[in-house]
Amino acid sequence: MTGATRTTCPYCGVGCGVLATPGADGRVAIKGDPDHPANFGRLCSKGSALGETLSLDDRLLHPRVVGERATWDRALDHVARAFSDAIRDHGPDSVAFYVSGQLLTEDYYAANKLMKGFIGSGNIDTNSRLCMSSSVAGHKRAFGSDTVPGTYEDLELADLVVLTGSNLAWCHPVLFQRLAAAKAARPGMRVVTIDPRRTATSELADLHLGIAPGADVALFNGLLLHLAAGPRLDAGFVDRHTSGLAGALGAAAGFDIRTTARTTGLSPAEVERFFNLLAATERVVTVYSQGVNQSSAGTDKVNAIINCHLLTGRIGRPGMGPFSVTGQPNAMGGREVGGLANQLAAHMELDNPAHRALVRDFWNAPRIADRPGLKAVDLFEAVHDGRIKALWIMATNPAASLPDADRVVAALGRCPFVVVSDVVRDTDTTRHAHVLLPSTAWGEKDGTVTNSERRISRQRAFLPPPGEARADWWQMAEVARRMGFSGFDWDGPSAIFREHAALSAHGNDGRRDFDIGAHAEIDVAGYEGLAPFHWPRPAGQGPRQRFFGDGKFHHPDGKARFVATPWRPARGQTSAARPLILNTGRVRDQWHTMTRTGKAARLTSHYAEPFVEVNPADARALGLAAADLALIESDRGGALLRVLVTERQRPGAVFAPIHWTGQQAARARVDALVASHVDPVSGQPESKFTPVSLRRFQAAWYGFAVSRRRPVVSDLDYWALAPVEGGFRAELGGADAPDDWPAAMTALLEPAEGADVLAYRDVARGLYRFAVYEAGVLSAALFVAPEPVEIARGWLIGQLGRALDGAERLRLLAGRGGDAAADPGALVCSCFSVGVNQITAAVKAGAQSIDAIGSCLKAGTNCGSCRMEIGRLIDACSTAKAG
Ligand code: SF4
Repeated sequence: MTGATRTTCPYCGVGCGVLATPGADGRVAIKGDPDHPANFGRLCSKGSALGETLSLDDRLLHPRVVGERATWDRALDHVARAFSDAIRDHGPDSVAFYVSGQLLTEDYYAANKLMKGFIGSGNIDTNSRLCMSSSVAGHKRAFGSDTVPGTYEDLELADLVVLTGSNLAWCHPVLFQRLAAAKAARPGMRVVTIDPRRTATSELADLHLGIAPGADVALFNGLLLHLAAGPRLDAGFVDRHTSGLAGALGAAAGFDIRTTARTTGLSPAEVERFFNLLAATERVVTVYSQGVNQSSAGTDKVNAIINCHLLTGRIGRPGMGPFSVTGQPNAMGGREVGGLANQLAAHMELDNPAHRALVRDFWNAPRIADRPGLKAVDLFEAVHDGRIKALWIMATNPAASLPDADRVVAALGRCPFVVVSDVVRDTDTTRHAHVLLPSTAWGEKDGTVTNSERRISRQRAFLPPPGEARADWWQMAEVARRMGFSGFDWDGPSAIFREHAALSAHGNDGRRDFDIGAHAEIDVAGYEGLAPFHWPRPAGQGPRQRFFGDGKFHHPDGKARFVATPWRPARGQTSAARPLILNTGRVRDQWHTMTRTGKAARLTSHYAEPFVEVNPADARALGLAAADLALIESDRGGALLRVLVTERQRPGAVFAPIHWTGQQAARARVDALVASHVDPVSGQPESKFTPVSLRRFQAAWYGFAVSRRRPVVSDLDYWALAPVEGGFRAELGGADAPDDWPAAMTALLEPAEGADVLAYRDVARGLYRFAVYEAGVLSAALFVAPEPVEIARGWLIGQLGRALDGAERLRLLAGRGGDAAADPGALVCSCFSVGVNQITAAVKAGAQSIDAIGSCLKAGTNCGSCRMEIGRLIDACSTAKAG
């Protein structure tokens, strides 16, 4: 493709290859890279919309010191001085870095080298702590190293894929598409999903186990006992290559099928079917993700899964093994350079004196951290209680994403010195920065990332850095130099990668898994052209795909460890005051705190406001109806969310997405509710099990607005803003109705001088409607009602910016015009903007399969992320017809 830059998607851990082509009009065309081995040309809805997220309107473009624009020199001097002063007065452990799985490996390397080797503290942790640190800890306990044994191909080669705690269809969509395609090509393949919630992923499953929240260890302990009692125990593998089985079996004792069923909330028949399927199938891959990791027993969950693979010898061979999929694009790269507080670099260990000496000598460092630093939750607790005097946050928004988020906000407010490096000017975290440093964003950054299957790929720049934005590694190198340290004089990311590769091979006697020494002398041209590759890649050796099929592990005796994982309940427990369990997670079309995906109108159309999913029985008991607003509260904090009543949610549990922040909604930071209970081994917080209460918000009015300008919403009890083509949409609500609706409308929509305002009111029914015309076109509209506003939203959004004649203006105020043809309904297919109304109409007209829907509406024919939802709509229509 002429003019296209080969790069890598910046969102999830699948790590898809992207072809980006900037056009003369400033737009960037995005396609999947057909030659990238992670995705072979596929992209999901988020990746496909990358070109729509590159605007500069919210970007941080210049350094700022205490709110004032500053030169880079002044800002960097200020940071270096503040860190040096804190270290001089209070010691190296008085400063900290909090970094991100969004950083490139080169950025991460620079941060880790500065903190652990030169400042001499372990106080660098990352938001990857919230994502997959339980997998890291589980791997290390079992294998002696943080090694993902298999590759994506194993999901296609397996005869049985078990997905536990993973909504792969929404969170890793391209990997899910690969799995779905493999299953379609080989119908004998079986898929099992284990999740308290029925998700889009469950639609692919032959068996869905709606497990009780937090009960995974009990299920896999039961499985271990079942497999150990039958012919699937691989005694040869266990004897030669493992130790500790007796302890693991002892911890699992008593978990027969009945006990397992009782503990997991499953029926004995479901448990037995699952166990028999596992016993009968040799090629098994168990995929796990945040549903396993984000738990106060996350590391035990990981080891309970790995135990079953070790027992059967099903590991490291084609189509077999435990498989952790990471949330972030470069969580793996961070692990490789030691981005977690308890790691060193190149998969070496902080508590190993030989490793510390190797790294210190290689870096020619004045000192080396000799003990683990503070993990994320403890780190912000230390900020709160004053132990941390200077904090540098890079590429993450802890005020929204850490548990107990309101306490994190308080901690940031107390910290004497906070530096934030970010691409976005205004976030819940940047508000607390003393120094703001503008970083380059995706499309401007240059470096490498590692995906969930250990594949290292290049992220390449195809846009110039805007304003004064600079790479994160450059910022750290400049501060290091100003602090008087040498060894940071890299002239570009290739020099850092070369050093990183050389360190990985330094003193490696073959016992360290991470070794990319083959690239230790890579030059600028080689780095520029670097093709995606799996690690390890030691010097002089060819590619190697899998680990452990040969039974060689990385503990000193070369054996893997079974880990005893006694089942224990989650830390928080429900009570009469907090009777429901809150599970948090992602939606299909959004990423983290929406700083990028929240800019693309077609992505925000899938879910345009924050919500809480409630089972119909719970909704009835609580007096909640669909589209009500509800206050959800824990012992830590609260949020105000739209109610979505669905059978997908099990009774007694609710689900809320993590994405919305103070920039997009009034009160929707769900991590403010989550307690900072952490896993004792990994330090990963329990984000899937928060006892909460839910009650109807007594709204006196609900509103829906569209506007070409951003509505002024800050005084309202409830608001949620999202971009639409040519403007914004806003969901609104309040406990008290304004006395003067025209004045309230003016304050909200700010009509221009001389604008034509058409109004309709029905005081008895509490209905108010306004339409604002500027220069002859619709510039804003507001619909208000005492109940959730029923208006064809897609249709109304479509009128924005249109010149309407007199009859059309009257129809608009009457709220008419939203039939299925005019109103697509809630978006299902982001790629072709096809909504639920259109799909339902097509099904009624005879399109009875996903492919038939694709033929007539194109929905589901590009990225495929929506195919499961289309299938569900077809089923729902068929059921309704049969009924
Ligand atoms: S699956 Fe989607 S979000 Fe993940 S890397 Fe691929 S295109 Fe990006």
